[in-house]
Amino acid sequence: MSDTLLRIEDLHAGYGDFVAVDSASLEVKKGGIVALIGINGAGKTTLMNTVAGLHKPSSGKVYFKDEEITALSADRIVAKGLSLVPQGGRCFTRMSVQDNLLMGSFPKTARKNAKAMLARVYELFPDLEQMKQRPAGNLSGGQRQMVAIGRALMGSPECLIFDEISLGLSPVVINDIYRIIKRINKEENTSIILIEQDIRRALKTSDAFYVMLKGKVVLSGKSDEVDPETLKKAYFGI
Ligand code: ATP
Repeated sequence: MSDTLLRIEDLHAGYGDFVAVDSASLEVKKGGIVALIGINGAGKTTLMNTVAGLHKPSSGKVYFKDEEITALSADRIVAKGLSLVPQGGRCFTRMSVQDNLLMGSFPKTARKNAKAMLARVYELFPDLEQMKQRPAGNLSGGQRQMVAIGRALMGSPECLIFDEISLGLSPVVINDIYRIIKRINKEENTSIILIEQDIRRALKTSDAFYVMLKGKVVLSGKSDEVDPETLKKAYFGI
């Protein structure tokens, strides 16, 4: 088996006639962290939603663990080990924190491990254990984001996609969440894709980066070798 976990080949996706993702290709190594950056509307969310089975591509292929997953439903993709944490930490607001977390263990393989995974989620997010009986709707934005991450972890993912996890959160909470993301990567060897507006943080956290502009991948490389001028030009298209 290769050391590539996720491979996106020549993907196109859009909304009606509008092309939001235009021939995007991208690779994620096993245990790697990839930053996906680009201005608003560049197509990052559409690309990742398409990979996660939440949006249908018009053409192109997605391979996960050397198996094509392009045509699969979102649930089946989660069951295979790829999960997306959407923007804004969406939760079932009337359900308790714990029930929200347990919703993440629906894949058959994850159900067997639900108890151990729940303990692991509470180890990573001790605050959530304190609040486990509270309705998720009563939590702060940062706590809801933690529930959303915990729910994704309950499925024992091998690859986790975070869509703008920092959006609307305080710097302290963002630091906490990033510390936990790095722990998940190191301790579980989970590959990570970060869609992130904070370019410095994204590059500091990742091994590799991709820049999108107008639906295309316009630059990619190793995060510690990026030339700031080249990055700026690619990012803004100047
Ligand atoms: P952001 O950082 O703002 O989330 P993004 O890089 O993730 O931006 P997308 O959200 O994928 O970009 O949007 C790509 C393009 O597709 C944008 O021009 C956007 O207006 C358009 N778009 C996104 N969602 C829809 C939709 N549901 N219907 C129509 N057009 C959409």
